[in-house]
Amino acid sequence: MNKIAIRARMRSKRKTLTSSQVSAATDRVTNTLLHIIDWPTISTIHVYESNPAWNEIQTDGIIEFIRQHYPNVVITVVQPQRTSLFPSKQFDVILVPLLAFDGRCNRLGFGGGWYDRFLSTQVNALTIGLAYDFQHVDALPVESHDIPLAKVVTETRVYS
Ligand code: ADP
Ligand code: MG
Repeated sequence: MNKIAIRARMRSKRKTLTSSQVSAATDRVTNTLLHIIDWPTISTIHVYESNPAWNEIQTDGIIEFIRQHYPNVVITVVQPQRTSLFPSKQFDVILVPLLAFDGRCNRLGFGGGWYDRFLSTQVNALTIGLAYDFQHVDALPVESHDIPLAKVVTETRVYS
């Protein structure tokens, strides 16, 4: 399947989730993130601003956790638009939204290529995709500009 067909399939699957399914998955992904990131060594993190209407894995819980427990961590929260400029500073951790991923942590985004461009400037960041299990596919089509993630966290496991 090509990228356009996979995006369409994943968008419509995600639309069928109920809000309690979104929160249950978000809770599990958030809890795993608390354990797999070495928080005391982190000074900057870039997080997408989740949109409840899109049924993404929500990021407000993880942001709240960082603010409460690691107030010295600088959190940059953005909802990237196709044309928005990205910050030039280097991040320790980047939490990335996605529509699909494969076992090699290749990522399919929303079609704007924003994260491919951004991540190509962030060579030292720990990049973590937040996803539902159903977004896993056997093998994504990958183009030369696509940047794979270091890890993908779902409700049930961590891919790396
Ligand atoms: P997504 O990663 O959002 O799923 P694609 O990988 O299909 O989307 O990329 C969308 C478009 O973004 C591509 O057609 C490509 O032209 C552009 N793009 C991606 N990365 C770069 C880059 N590093 N420099 C210039 N253009 C890029
Ligand atoms: Mg891409």
